[in-house]
Amino acid sequence: MKLNCDMTMDLVALYQDGLASESTNEAVESHLETCARCREYYKSYRIAKPFQEEFLTVQEREFAEVAKRLRARKLWKRIFTCSYILASIAAMMVLWLRLQDEDEFDVYHVK
Ligand SMILES: [Zn+2]
Repeated sequence: MKLNCDMTMDLVALYQDGLASESTNEAVESHLETCARCREYYKSYRIAKPFQEEFLTVQEREFAEVAKRLRARKLWKRIFTCSYILASIAAMMVLWLRLQDEDEFDVYHVK
């Protein structure tokens, strides 16, 4: 399959994202080997692609914001859970140490 420059530039996005078929990949690659202009376009496309804020749509930005908040909330939940468990263990240890000293904790036996 022989591609012209317009077709190649249209297909570069699919090629880059790995969504093009094997024959399309080969056609794009063979055109990129011979055409400097399309190679430049492909390079600039590759640089622009990785998640840069200005390339995100409004919905994607909102989703990223929500995901960030959820991650933060999850982190705080974990911190709270760990603190709660540690505080419980500490309280049990204090109670256990006090129970070791029977005289101090002998509340059930009237003297
Ligand atoms: Zn070209």
